[in-house]
Formats: sequence, C-alpha cells, structure tokens
Amino acid sequence: MQVTRRQFSKLFLAAGATTLAGCNTASQSARVSPSSARIVVVGGGFGGATAAKYLKMMDNSLDVTLVEPNKTFYTCPFSNLVLGGLKQMDDIAHSYTKLESLYGVKVVHARASRVEANAVVLADGSRIPFDRAVVSPGVDVRYDKMPGHSPDVEDKMPHAWKAGPQTVQLRKQLEAMPDGGTVVICPPENPFRCPPGPYERASMMAHYLSQNKPRSKVLILDMKEKFSKQPLFTDGWNLHYRDLIEWRQGSAGGKVLQIDAANMQVETEFGWEKGDVINFIPAQWAGKIARDSGLTNDAGWCPVNQITFESEKMPKVHVIGDASIAGAMPKSGFSANSQAKVCAAAIVSLLRGEDPVAPSFANTCYSLVTPNYSISVAAVYRFNEGKIAGVSGAGGVSPKNADAAARAQEAVYAQGWYDSITQDMFA
Ligand code: FAD
Repeated sequence: MQVTRRQFSKLFLAAGATTLAGCNTASQSARVSPSSARIVVVGGGFGGATAAKYLKMMDNSLDVTLVEPNKTFYTCPFSNLVLGGLKQMDDIAHSYTKLESLYGVKVVHARASRVEANAVVLADGSRIPFDRAVVSPGVDVRYDKMPGHSPDVEDKMPHAWKAGPQTVQLRKQLEAMPDGGTVVICPPENPFRCPPGPYERASMMAHYLSQNKPRSKVLILDMKEKFSKQPLFTDGWNLHYRDLIEWRQGSAGGKVLQIDAANMQVETEFGWEKGDVINFIPAQWAGKIARDSGLTNDAGWCPVNQITFESEKMPKVHVIGDASIAGAMPKSGFSANSQAKVCAAAIVSLLRGEDPVAPSFANTCYSLVTPNYSISVAAVYRFNEGKIAGVSGAGGVSPKNADAAARAQEAVYAQGWYDSITQDMFA
C-alpha cells in the first residue's frame, strides 16, 4: 500500500505515545521526499535522543545533529533503584553509538552555550546552523530559593535529581549511615521533574534500610500538602515500612525554611531536624541554555505552541521535555519521549509546508515501593482549547485494593517499560 505524506504523519502522531516496534533503522522506515533541511537537537536525554532518532526515521534525508556533552546518558528513571541497591549505575547507562550507526544522526559531544535565530553556538564558540532546532535540556536546580543552599553544599547534601555522580554519592552516604540513623528527604514545591520521584526514592531507601539497618528512619519533610499517587504509596508504606517512613505535609511541619549543611540539619516551621543523610531536592527551572537563550518566561519555563512545541519566544526553535510548558502533562521521561515524536512529526510537516496534525500523547509512570510491589499512574492527553489537556475517563491509577500478585505484576511491567523506552531512545 502506498502511504501518502499526510497518512505517514498521522501514523507517527498516533504512535506519539508509544514505542514503534519494528522501526529499527532509518533505511527500513518509509521514505518520504528529501528535504535536506538541517535540524540541530540540543540535549540527548529523553526528549532530545528520541527527537533526533524519530526525525531521521520520518525523513532520512534530514541532516540531524545532536549536541550532547556526555558520551554516556544515565537515566533518572530507575536511579532510585540504584539507591535501593536493586540496580547498579551500569544498568541505567546508555550510549549514543546506535543513533549514529543505525540512524545517521550526527552526534557532537559538546555543550551548547546559546541558541540564536539560525544557529546553535557551542561552548568553544563554533556555530552549527539550522533550519529548525529542538531544545530538550531538562531542568537545572535553583540556588536562589532556599537559604543555605548553594552548589557548595551538594557534596554533603546531594540532590541526585540528575542521575550520575550524585546518585553514587547519595548511595555511599546511605551505606555509611549507622543503623538507627535518620534519612531526611525534602521534596520541592510543584512544578518539578517527576512528581512521584521523591516518594519512590523514600521507598527504595527504606527497602535498603529495612534489609540492612532496620532501626533507621526515613523522614520526608514536604513543602506540599499532598503528592502524586499518595493513597497508593501510603498503603504500600503501611504494609512494608510502617515504622520506617514518616511523611510530614507542609502545614504539619514539613515546610523547609532553610538548610544548614555544616551541621546536617534543616529548619522547618516547627524547629530543626537533623539527618545522618539529607536529600534536599531543590526547586527547579528549565536548563541553563533555555534561560540564556531567552526561551523562558518569568518563572523559568519555556512557553511553546502545544501542537508543534515551537517556542513562543523564538521562531523555528522547538522546546520539549521538562523545560517546556506542556499543559497538563507532568515532567516525566515518558512525556518527553511522547512530545519528541509529536514535535518531530510537526517539524517534518512544517518543512513540507503542511499543517501539523492535532496530536495526542500518553504518560505512564511506575513507582516501586519494594522490588515486588509497584504502583502506577497513566493518562492520555489531547490538544484542547489551546493547550494539552487530560482526556477524561482515560488512564487512572493502580487499583487501591489490588492483591500482592497484581502489585508484583506491575513491578514486572515497570521493568518492561524501562527496557522499551530506553530501546526507543537509543537502539
Ligand atoms: P533529560 O532527559 O534530563 O535530558 C537533558 C539532556 O540535555 C541531558 O543529557 C543533558 O546533558 C543535556 N544538556 C543540558 N544542557 C545542555 C547544553 N547546554 N548543551 C547540550 N546538552 C545539554 N520519568 C518517567 O517517565 N518515569 C520514571 O520512572 C521517572 N523516574 C524518575 C526518577 C527520578 C529520581 C528523577 C529525578 C526523574 C525521573 N523521571 C521519570 C523524570 C525524567 O527523568 C525526566 O522527566 C526526563 O529526563 C526529561 O527529559 P528531558 O529530555 O527534558 O531531559
């Protein structure tokens, strides 16, 4: 069957939320008319790596360059499992070699310092010209929101909200902690990367402690009044970590006012709390390059057209992933991956002078409470009245009263999700 260009775009948009099994190489994918347009993708994470690969799969004649400083990408998804001792750093490490060898993406290992109207400027001053750019730099932590916080305290209080050396450091601190010690986790205000992440982290740390240092405690001092999948996490904690995890909501002494790394303590409205390990997770905003290039609003996030992800601040530059304002979608790896496919298809359409098709998206997020007990949230999104909105009646959370077998099955699904999305990005 002959697939028209429009049908081809629709096919990919329909698949925006899912992985495309069988589309293994650019040469195997359907061919469309050559355009040779130059696309520069900044950032090789969940958004950027997916966008670079799918641009080449959708139109192999595109000249796609991916700019990413690191040769190895460590995923934040499953980094909490490293903290819990279930995984090693090697298990969450991925390389860019197949994007080059199988798909023909040009990978430049460098840091981009600025995006200008027609070129990405690298840290060494060299320029890569583009017809369209995709920017997916993720988040940076903010140092201006919490008294006592600065880059200097991160050795003592690693946030580990980007997977890498801080993940290793936090794990070492947990291993060095005495039995009977306290881990303090301080999740930030919304919006931030991975809303359920701090609570999966508490679970994984509690798992390690329950096996190795059972007299210890995990104290969550939360800026917020409630959190993602709260009833399900609470059930899991009551079942498995009854005396080990304590969560304090903002108005009940959870709200942190300042941190004191020298004395390993944080101040709340109810007084000081000491920790043997303190995981202060700071407030966040879009990665530096987005802020330095004028792509952000006053709050530090990037406003975009929520059909094409084209920046409202700079034409022909598309921002996806955590850095973007994507309506109701959470800042997750699955969201970034889903947005990348929609954005790639929109770019191909725009280059051909066609109207992009109204997209749909999905997000599923698994959280492990124990190695064999997982919970999830799923949602479907569509563009509706000017922005991305959740589709009512689609998605939901794991059933509240599921039995042990169902929770264990979800843990198997979590691994399947991880394998499938990382393959979709890098293989
Ligand atoms: P990233 O994936 O962070 O990619 C950004 C890339 O840009 C990086 O490789 C960086 O090196 C590069 N970069 C930055 N600046 C520049 C520059 N100037 N020049 C060139 N390159 C640059 N999501 C899920 O869906 N499921 C989960 O289970 C899940 N678990 C999580 C657990 C934790 C503990 C955390 C912290 C997050 C988790 N997430 C999860 C969220 C997920 O990691 C992010 O939402 C996702 O990584 C966002 O993708 P992104 O492309 O915006 O940013």
